[in-house]
Amino acid sequence: MGVVDGRVDVVVVGGGVIGSAAAWRSAARGRSVVLLEQFEPGHARGASHGTSRIYRQAYEDGFHTTLAGRAFPLWRTLEEITGTRVLTLTGAVDHGHPGCVLSRAETLASLGIAHEVLDPKDAEKRWTGMRFDTAVLHHPAAGRLHADLSVQALQDAARRAGAEVRHRVAVREIHGAASGVEVVTDTGVIRAGHAVLAAGAWTRTLLANTNIRPAPVLPPLRTTQEQPAHFVPVTDATWPSFVHHPGSELTTTGIYGLGSASGVKIGEHGTGPEVHPDARDFRPDPDGVQRLVDYAAVWLPGVDASSAAPDSCLYTTTPDSRFVVDRLGDVTVAAGFSGHGFKFAPAVGELVAGLVAGDVRTPRAFRFGPRQAVVA
Ligand SMILES: Cc1cc2nc3c(=O)[nH]c(=O)nc-3n(C[C@H](O)[C@H](O)[C@H](O)COP(=O)(O)OP(=O)(O)OC[C@H]3O[C@@H](n4cnc5c(N)ncnc54)[C@H](O)[C@@H]3O)c2cc1C
Repeated sequence: MGVVDGRVDVVVVGGGVIGSAAAWRSAARGRSVVLLEQFEPGHARGASHGTSRIYRQAYEDGFHTTLAGRAFPLWRTLEEITGTRVLTLTGAVDHGHPGCVLSRAETLASLGIAHEVLDPKDAEKRWTGMRFDTAVLHHPAAGRLHADLSVQALQDAARRAGAEVRHRVAVREIHGAASGVEVVTDTGVIRAGHAVLAAGAWTRTLLANTNIRPAPVLPPLRTTQEQPAHFVPVTDATWPSFVHHPGSELTTTGIYGLGSASGVKIGEHGTGPEVHPDARDFRPDPDGVQRLVDYAAVWLPGVDASSAAPDSCLYTTTPDSRFVVDRLGDVTVAAGFSGHGFKFAPAVGELVAGLVAGDVRTPRAFRFGPRQAVVA
């Protein structure tokens, strides 16, 4: 197989939301960039498809809250560049376990981010499709991202900045070269100064086929098949994005949700079975669907609880749910987005671009190496 390209500055492997954002931000810095995606545009085999993802800033810690805040103007810049609306502000609410709600309120307060804490009865008057049991944290700088449109817009912006975006090209191996890397694909070899691995659930396989020394050591990554479901709304209620933390009246696992073009989506966070990304059945687990139906029947009077339409998507999770975004030599890895990475994508893309350029340092939370498991 011959070399099909002249040398480029950066090859990004993986055209999900993270790789697409990394390609955009690197190209925006004037680098020559090729983005390679093994499947067709808009495919549903990874983690970045569908009509909705929550955008919110209320995290327990200041680090993630600040990172989500950094992503906000970049989402808006993306919209301006591409003329595509991807982020709709609806506000977000947290309710349930009082400790979870109040710690997030404290973090928002410490960073000067607008928010309010409402009595549950007042919250029910405002969001009539929902039931609340405890104090409700609301912050308005939150809402929903359209997932498919976001990925499309990020790739469009990458192209406008000069990147080449190629679908249906799978990377088989990456070799270290005297200077930079050689990326072996099923259509040829690309020489590059740097490789960015943003391969989602395929990251381990890709790294196993990467002959770079020293090799980055990643924390364990668990891939699970998750199944949120959409429900048909039965009122004209407005829907914030929401997280219901277990620990008050809710005694089962926590639930996230939001309104979307496909209905009101709710899901459990990371409860699905472990799978290999190339050998999964996409079939919903009936018990899991029933749990969502039961939740909707009790907590969401604004939907038809019998109308569940399940979907299938992958989580790739680190032991502490913190991402891996780190560089070693001529390789940067952006992986392990642990079921909450979408909202941050342009800020992560900017971080990757900085790591590739060598002008930023990896945040401690995102470094290679082992991680302590978080006990839920
Ligand atoms: C059900 C569900 C709900 C979620 N809800 C939210 C939410 O509300 N808010 C939020 O912020 N986040 C949410 N997330 C998480 C978020 O969607 C993910 O963190 C994010 O999409 C991960 O993107 P990624 O680019 O890392 O992975 P992916 O989207 O999987 O992209 C990786 C890409 O790499 C490609 N690839 C792999 N190997 C190769 C190769 N060798 N050659 C070429 N291409 C390759 C794959 O085909 C794939 O397209 C949710 C995730 C799921 C599953």
